[in-house]
Amino acid sequence: MNKTIEIQINKTANSKLPHTDFENLAFGQTTSDHMFIADYYDGDWHGMRIEPYAPLSIHPANATLHYGQSVFEGLKAYKNKEDEVLVFRADSNFRRLNESARRMCIPELPEEIFMEGMARLLELDRDWVPARPGCSLYIRPFIFATDEYLGIRPSNKYKFMILTCPVGHYYAKPVSVKVETRYTRAIEGGTGAAKAAGNYAGSLYPALQAQKQGYDQLLWTDGKTHQFIEESGTMNVMFVINGKLVTAPTTTGTILKGITRDSVLILAKELGMQYEERFISVSELQDALEKGVLEEAFGTGTAATVAHIQRIHVNDKDYVLPEKPRDSFSYKVLTILDDIKYGRREDAHGWISKY
Ligand SMILES: *Cc1c(COP(=O)(O)O)cnc(C)c1O
Repeated sequence: MNKTIEIQINKTANSKLPHTDFENLAFGQTTSDHMFIADYYDGDWHGMRIEPYAPLSIHPANATLHYGQSVFEGLKAYKNKEDEVLVFRADSNFRRLNESARRMCIPELPEEIFMEGMARLLELDRDWVPARPGCSLYIRPFIFATDEYLGIRPSNKYKFMILTCPVGHYYAKPVSVKVETRYTRAIEGGTGAAKAAGNYAGSLYPALQAQKQGYDQLLWTDGKTHQFIEESGTMNVMFVINGKLVTAPTTTGTILKGITRDSVLILAKELGMQYEERFISVSELQDALEKGVLEEAFGTGTAATVAHIQRIHVNDKDYVLPEKPRDSFSYKVLTILDDIKYGRREDAHGWISKY
């Protein structure tokens, strides 16, 4: 960051803080007092500002409503004992936002707008970062097309916004998942590597079918053969088989490059845990379950950090995984990551920025 930008700040006169029940936070329902906005038009970003959190007025022909030209990010701010606000690997989220933007023909965002916008917003709404254990402030940066035009082409105008929501524990309990062999989240050449709005719209129907059958999430398989495991719901997925950590590689463009995934792999290396980035087939997974050598299965993502998988449905059979002992890899890595995020452990990787 070498440029500084000017940000207009319009503070709310009516903070929602006194009316917010921090004991009962449902993910994404409670928003903080302010939001950051920047507008793109005439080939540049303009009007950086923070305003009281409020609805936008949208033209009925808004391009995003019709064609979904929109990308987003998700990261979190945590409070340490000293009441400082810590954010985990924001530079990675910034880079990924622009990678997603490129895929969706959205103009890239300058780093200083992302970083300064987030910094000022966190400064203003720092009392919205919960100090309670396990809680955090979810940060949602996003860019969407704002042309008022029904023709199909990349929009000429966009909005970049950041909103924040205080959140409690996500996925507190272990999840059950079902291997999906009919529907597809992502295909080679598609948009699966981008955090693009439409990816999530397309995943809702298959996920709902699984939920009706009593599963929390899907285990997505590749779109061509449905024989290889790709992700779990909106998380990356990892397995420990015979003492070795295995997760899908990100080289096919069908796997979202999770920052939690990357962090877990870095820590695995440091912990001396053997790992492989390779595709694991449904039959290998089932085989490992049958033989009892699938020691751990878990999703990784910002929302939950690590979501333990307790039950897996594969080829019409339900397998229940054994309870994870406290010395399992997934618990160990979750504890380390949480300790770094909440400032209880030295940040040896330079992952934390303070506000
Ligand atoms: C965001 C996301 C992830 C996890 O990414 P993190 O950076 O770890 O939060 C994994 N898969 C999908 C499909 C996602 O959208």
